[in-house]
Amino acid sequence: MPFNTSLVFIVFISLFLSCSKEIVEPLTPQIIPKPLSQTIKEGHFTITNNTGLDFNEDFSVAGNFLKDFIESGSSISLKSGSSILIEKDETIQGLEGYSLDVFLGKIIIKAKTDVGAFYAVQSLRQLLPISLENNTFTGKQITVQSISITDKPQFSYRGMHLDVVRHMFSVAFIKKYIDALAMLKMNTFHWHLTDDQGWRIEIKKYPKLQEVAAFRNQTLIEHFSAEPQRFDSKKYGGFYSQEQIKEVVAYAQNRFITVIPEIEMPGHAQAAIAAYPELGCTKEALQVAETWGVFEDIFCAGSENTFTFLQDVLDEVIPLFPGKYIHIGGDEAPKTHWKACDACQQRIEDNKLKDEHELQSCFMVEC
Ligand SMILES: [Zn+2]
Repeated sequence: MPFNTSLVFIVFISLFLSCSKEIVEPLTPQIIPKPLSQTIKEGHFTITNNTGLDFNEDFSVAGNFLKDFIESGSSISLKSGSSILIEKDETIQGLEGYSLDVFLGKIIIKAKTDVGAFYAVQSLRQLLPISLENNTFTGKQITVQSISITDKPQFSYRGMHLDVVRHMFSVAFIKKYIDALAMLKMNTFHWHLTDDQGWRIEIKKYPKLQEVAAFRNQTLIEHFSAEPQRFDSKKYGGFYSQEQIKEVVAYAQNRFITVIPEIEMPGHAQAAIAAYPELGCTKEALQVAETWGVFEDIFCAGSENTFTFLQDVLDEVIPLFPGKYIHIGGDEAPKTHWKACDACQQRIEDNKLKDEHELQSCFMVEC
């Protein structure tokens, strides 16, 4: 065989072998975050229409998630039966810990709690073909690499933040985002709901938050430092109704994710002040911010209006979020207006405070 022909033949055979290898073999496990320990074993488990799934009500979130994930991502329907078994094991370390064993003919998940089992299911999910994630899987069976995993989280707070102010996201997108958090075994969703460029949570007592603060008239395009600054001339914004907030919180809860809402104070308040100018030191009419940066119009710390407003807002926010924490911002609050404001200066004097920075400390505990 001439050199060139033999080379082509070798390349062809290599490609053929590597392609057929990919089709036959299950995926190499690459679970994120990396489990505490994992041992890849010989062989694999095959999920088919004959595969049974068994779990009791203590593991209903984990079990139902796995069933829905496989059945909505493929044409396979799981039966009752115990070829995939989720069971309680008090010897598992940590309330969020689990073990996952995939053998020939059996998958066994052990956990102390539904949370631990849910995280085992997320690891199992990552062992399955990625096409199950977007409904493009067309096979009649799913091959899973034999593996033995024991795992528990290193950190108790595992969260991600989403700013819905500078860019508004649909409820459908937020659910997708929460799904991604769950897949990565995160347990906290930090929802940045208010800022200078918009107010995104419905507060029934203050309708102008929805009518005015939720929308900016236009948005800066290109870089902030570009000269001249250019704008898109498009009204932009929106807000989440309290019903939508409840829907997102319930969706997250069903994935063991706590939602922490962020209501910014005393800074990043220009949208709220645009709706209610009496909340600012100057009482002047403002626009919802159309550019980025740190703005000098912050809540007036000397006015009772501010504290009444924020208390009313929190009275509506707190019942919507069953978690222990509400984030109240505190960052980037320039003191320019507080220095020139009689009411703010009076509050400093009345409380024997050293300066405007102590006034902010005082503000945060409602002095
Ligand atoms: Zn003031």
